[in-house]
Amino acid sequence: MSLAYIGLGSNLDDPLQQIRSAVTAIASLPQSSIEQLSSVYQSTPVGPSDQPDFLNAALRLRTALDPFTLLDHLQQIEDHHGRERHQRWGPRTLDLDILLFDNTVISTPRLTVPHRELHNRDFVLHPLQEVLTENQLLPNQIDLATLLASCEDNDLLRTDYRLTD
Ligand code: AMP
Repeated sequence: MSLAYIGLGSNLDDPLQQIRSAVTAIASLPQSSIEQLSSVYQSTPVGPSDQPDFLNAALRLRTALDPFTLLDHLQQIEDHHGRERHQRWGPRTLDLDILLFDNTVISTPRLTVPHRELHNRDFVLHPLQEVLTENQLLPNQIDLATLLASCEDNDLLRTDYRLTD
């Protein structure tokens, strides 16, 4: 079994509902169970600024799936949520990223793990911090506090929204 850390983001079509429904879909993936969910964070968009604020969260998944099969499943879930891949950093109904997968390093055209934007995004690092296990390594073995101190500021707010009832 492996531990996968998944980042969730949405800024269209009722983002909280998108993220809740993605959590439900991820909870029913084969050979997998969600171990921990983060709070929901609100942030201002990276890139084009004429778009709504984002909601972001992260979760820790115990899984027997390999990283590529997990990515297949996550992309299917994105597609079921009407994700259309147009504009880079543009608005999106649902974005699911594999942030970390055990301490595995993957560098292929389809999949990069740790996720290539992990280290410089507060809206990824803050939720991730809530679900990390103690022995999980981060890129280049830099500790989370150092990454948080040097990443960009997107006016992040931790909300009171709940992902489960
Ligand atoms: P984006 O539009 O930023 O969500 O990028 C989606 C593309 O990133 C997909 O084509 C994936 O194959 C690729 N990708 C590379 N690494 C990852 C990762 N760690 N998690 C999710 N998608 C990834």
